Amino acid sequence: MRTIGLLGGMSWESTAIYYRLANELVRDRLGGLHSARLLMLSVDFAPIEEMQVAGRWDEAGQLLAADARRLEAGGADLLVLCTNTMHKVADVIQDAVSIPLLHLGDATAAAVRGAGLTTVGLLATGFTMAQDFYRDRLESHGLTVLVPSTADQALVHRVIYDELCLGVVRDESRAAYVDVVDRLVQRGAEGVILGCTEIEMLIGPDDLEVPSFPTTRIHVEAALDAALG
Ligand code: GLU
Repeated sequence: MRTIGLLGGMSWESTAIYYRLANELVRDRLGGLHSARLLMLSVDFAPIEEMQVAGRWDEAGQLLAADARRLEAGGADLLVLCTNTMHKVADVIQDAVSIPLLHLGDATAAAVRGAGLTTVGLLATGFTMAQDFYRDRLESHGLTVLVPSTADQALVHRVIYDELCLGVVRDESRAAYVDVVDRLVQRGAEGVILGCTEIEMLIGPDDLEVPSFPTTRIHVEAALDAALG
């Protein structure tokens, strides 16, 4: 089994899900006492979030690239960046190491295409919804990506940073997210990408009438495909 390097802490709430899911899925795939071979570097998220807000993406990229090098030096065979948003600097991270970075946008697009859908809504941080780095990556795989209205983007973003990243899961926010998805479906979305690694804490298939694509689970599945060969 190859060693998966998890570059996490963004937020640690979702990195904990990566850790648990990776182990549960290895147990399911291999049985017995098998568990995932993981190396984790979990950052302090507060300075990263300050860099996001200030638009200091180059600085954040350099910081994460240095940590990616530490994971490679520690023995990681592949890298998993446990956040959609920081894939804005995926190229900087990839260029810093010689092991592959398993891009979350590629894995997600493959899951959507595998389900036979082409037009999907995207729930994510404001950075990921409003900027083009993530949508473009998805659309390079033949998808059409719909993002919520400006007001709905603000709501989705606020819930991620003020609640989910702090471990707070509220019924009112779940209902609000379901309404946002409904509005995307009315505009033609055939499914919805849960394009923030904390959103799976709040909503899932039981809450929605269209297929959903949970990026944390998709990313872990793809990493295990690579690690187990
Ligand atoms: N985990 C989130 C994501 O998948 C948001 C936190 C961050 O900005 O990294 O985008």
